[in-house]
Amino acid sequence: MLHRLSVVVQTPAHSAIAGPLTYGHATPLPPGSLVRVPLGKRETLGVVWDGTPEDSNFEIRAISDALDGLAPLNAVWRGLVQFAAQYYQRAVGEVALAALPPQLRELGAAQLTRRLKRPKEVNGAIDTNAVDTTHSVALSAEQTSVIAEFDAQKGPFLLFGSTGSGKTEVYLQLVQSLLSRDPSAQALVMVPEINLTPQLEARFRERFEPRYGAASVVSMHSGMTPPQRLKSWLAAHSGTARIVLGTRMAVFASMPGLKLIVVDEEHDPSYKQQEGARYSARDLAVYRSQLETRLNPDDEPCRVLLGSATPALESWHLSRPAAEGGRYVRLAMPSRIGAGSLPKVRLVDMNLQQKKTVFSPQLLAAIQQRVARGEQSMVFLNRRGYAPVLACSSCEWKSECPHCSAYRVFHKIDRSLRCHHCGYAEPVPRACPSCGNPDISPVGRGTERLEEHLAELLADLRRPDGGPVVVARIDADSTKAKGALEAQLAEVHTGAVDVLVGTQMIAKGHDFRRITLVAAINPDGALFSSDFRAPERLFALLMQAGGRAGRDAAHSAASEMWIQTMHPQHPLFAALKKHDYPDFAASQLDERRIAGMPPFSYQALVRAEARTQEAAQAFLSLASAAACDVPDVERVTLYPAVPMGVQRVANIERAQMLVESPSRQALQRFLLAWQAVLRATRSQPEAKGLVRWAIDVDPLSI
Ligand code: ADP
Ligand code: ZN
Ligand code: ZN
Repeated sequence: MLHRLSVVVQTPAHSAIAGPLTYGHATPLPPGSLVRVPLGKRETLGVVWDGTPEDSNFEIRAISDALDGLAPLNAVWRGLVQFAAQYYQRAVGEVALAALPPQLRELGAAQLTRRLKRPKEVNGAIDTNAVDTTHSVALSAEQTSVIAEFDAQKGPFLLFGSTGSGKTEVYLQLVQSLLSRDPSAQALVMVPEINLTPQLEARFRERFEPRYGAASVVSMHSGMTPPQRLKSWLAAHSGTARIVLGTRMAVFASMPGLKLIVVDEEHDPSYKQQEGARYSARDLAVYRSQLETRLNPDDEPCRVLLGSATPALESWHLSRPAAEGGRYVRLAMPSRIGAGSLPKVRLVDMNLQQKKTVFSPQLLAAIQQRVARGEQSMVFLNRRGYAPVLACSSCEWKSECPHCSAYRVFHKIDRSLRCHHCGYAEPVPRACPSCGNPDISPVGRGTERLEEHLAELLADLRRPDGGPVVVARIDADSTKAKGALEAQLAEVHTGAVDVLVGTQMIAKGHDFRRITLVAAINPDGALFSSDFRAPERLFALLMQAGGRAGRDAAHSAASEMWIQTMHPQHPLFAALKKHDYPDFAASQLDERRIAGMPPFSYQALVRAEARTQEAAQAFLSLASAAACDVPDVERVTLYPAVPMGVQRVANIERAQMLVESPSRQALQRFLLAWQAVLRATRSQPEAKGLVRWAIDVDPLSI
């Protein structure tokens, strides 16, 4: 007799099959079992899901293989996937399969068994009783009280700690105390981009590997090869790995003993997945911790700690006092370790400078002083390449991308014009393609040009050792090669570099000890952006960047953060001068409350991509008009369809529509029911040419 099983598989986006399929097997497999099943003419990986399928008259196909060498994925994992699929409006199978390591899809039961039989790595001497004297730092008073409060409460927690206040040490301590009191406990530590913070990984390995063995800490991020990812995943799933260190994808790691989740730099936009199921790993981390606790009521609760010097306004708002409706416990560490001070903020009014000034004389003098003293400076500009546009001096020609509504960026290093949206690249033409004029020149500047310019300005200066000044650049272009970023960061750390130029990549997380000056060359764009989150992001970025300066307490008194701006009176800079995040947050939250924007309302974006802008907008408008019978429609606002900021990318026209509601539940119920309408609208003649559409719940950029 065949037992019927519900199985989720990867199905195409928006296909009518969103739920589990029914298969048969000789024995009843428990939910969470991995199986290989026939699907059409292929065979594919599936996960046995909860619930018994209904009887049907159709012939049921049998599963091809059960990967029974692996323990089933537990109820928390399934619950998390189920929730994420529903909340972010995707199919369960899509989310479930995307949450598994890609290589698992290719392995049959026999191959997997062979793989699992591979001898475990020799762990070296593990001494669980080792009292690790090298790492027993004396905690600061703030660290001590934060840890005590953490132990006394259930959370969720928001650790609001200045840059350099010792947040990482708190994470290490919390993990350490958990692992030593519970031999089967596991901790998940999430970071925005692991490649940017190799130091963090090193600190965790250094702290825990001597005690729990080389296999106790595993990483999970997209920079790993498929075999590495599978290996980490299996180690977490089996419980061998006690600590998983990963990027957003790690929120879906299978961890049977999970008792602690840390989300470092929780405000970072890279926690939001930007394709497929557009989940927020931070929000899912909070959900997961609560689900772990709910489904394991006899265990110690699973706690979650979000950490940041500039929390997301959503998290900040959630951590207001409980009496005012707050649900997170706010823990604060306002002081820097070693009583170092935060850098002094200096605003340069660019209205008072000569036209086209890149470096004001004051800033240049300050950088020169640093070089002469053997200290380092960091200059950042959020635009890579040499110049954002190339233009002809005698006609209207500009380096437009033929496939996008955007300019191609001039990269001088290989004399190319490259589109940062579709990747289309060409050698720079010798003369204007439109009028033949040989005088085509760069307009504006990116990091490449800034680096060149600064090297010229500092050419005559000598470092204290008599050598010439070294200016280096770190951005997505300079770090393409594997290992390049690590090598370049190491150069900065050894002190070989005097001035580091880069994009926001250099502003985040690094513990540079010798930097005493940080400068933002032109941050004004974000002040008047149409995206209501732009000021929040700018403030966080500037605070983070400033946090790179003066991390060595001995130098902190002399450390400075320079900002060149046309708007020195802007309240954002006033708050920044005082290093006053709470003040900035309060004023932003006031504005958002008045305007009814998140966190005081809930949003979703529907994006449509089509051959023509008309088709993209028609699809959205029709679906909007057809929403009148959808449940909860009276509690949501559907805004008109509009072209996206960059309207055309790779010859595809893009439009979007904002959906908003004061109630998260109402928005959820509406979206769930409206999906069917969107699917049906696709076949309308007006929507001909539609290529794809997708819903983004809690979108980060609008
Ligand atoms: P954050 O993550 O808050 O920016 P870190 O955890 O990186 O701060 O700490 C900043 C620096 O202070 C690091 O070099 C760290 O090793 C050091 N540090 C942290 N806690 C202590 C402590 N209790 N005693 C001495 N040094 C500490
Ligand atoms: Zn021309
Ligand atoms: Zn393009």
